[in-house]
Amino acid sequence: MSLIVVGSMAFDEIETPFGKSGKIIGGAATYIAWTASNFVKPVQQVSVVGGDFPEAELKALAERGVQLEGVQVKQDQKSFFWAGKYHMDMNNRDTLVTELNVLGDFEPVVPASYQDAEFLMLGNLAPAVQKSVISQMKKRPKLIAMDTMNFWMEVALDDLKEVLKMVDVLLINDAEARQLSGEYSLVRAANKIFEMGPKYLIIKKGEHGALLFHENHVFFAPALPLEDVYDPTGAGDTFAGGFIGHIARTKDISFENMKTAIIIGSAMASYCVEKFGTDRLKEITEEDIENRIRQFIDLVHFDIDLI
Ligand code: AMP
Repeated sequence: MSLIVVGSMAFDEIETPFGKSGKIIGGAATYIAWTASNFVKPVQQVSVVGGDFPEAELKALAERGVQLEGVQVKQDQKSFFWAGKYHMDMNNRDTLVTELNVLGDFEPVVPASYQDAEFLMLGNLAPAVQKSVISQMKKRPKLIAMDTMNFWMEVALDDLKEVLKMVDVLLINDAEARQLSGEYSLVRAANKIFEMGPKYLIIKKGEHGALLFHENHVFFAPALPLEDVYDPTGAGDTFAGGFIGHIARTKDISFENMKTAIIIGSAMASYCVEKFGTDRLKEITEEDIENRIRQFIDLVHFDIDLI
């Protein structure tokens, strides 16, 4: 029951109202792998890093059951670098720097040992790279999910539309759903996006939870109200890692099971934001995850008599 994860592995530099991170490890695929490996092994990683990427970080992932055969190390180049700044409303952030470096001319190669994977999570990355990975799969995985962002809608919309035709689930935030569809209403946006290819749409709304759309059904997962939100970077990727990790573990791609998967995604994301970068994700145990899922059940459970 393996899962392929594609995405950036990076250096990030983050500033929030609570502090500055300095240069730390980030990248969409890093967050997804740390999270999904709680639920499914092996996670089969496809990415690219420069010679500056710490050996210890790769080793720590390998020890978690993340296979790195598909991670290219370009010794004489620099890793992808992203810098961002959050203000008091941490639902929005400014991107200060995006240096593609090794990502600029990344040509992914899916190793032969990954070919049996049943699940494919395309983390945020150039749509052409996401498409190349799908095309290299000899047998179509049972479920293909993808994340993307406004940056790719602006610089690679045609490529993005090509990939959308090939995937089952799209995960984006509310602003991106509106940008992609040209619709303000998220229900209308979902219907327009269904016409582009995906059968399932997950719209992430930061501290306001997430919506799962499929045909004319919609389900809502809240975000846990937290006392301290320290750094929201990677929350979306962590959500994706929890979502696909649960689906890959259970091998059940029904709408009902996707409801559980978005609760698990939300629970994992709630841990991610408690510290800078992947620090909190590296600490949490199975018991922590169970406790947080229980908190989600308590948060939304109520009995009501119909009038
Ligand atoms: P999130 O907060 O879930 O949207 O993801 C943040 C992560 O995405 C950071 O660790 C960045 O390194 C990574 N990232 C930011 N911009 C891009 C991009 N254009 N392509 C790939 N990864 C990116």
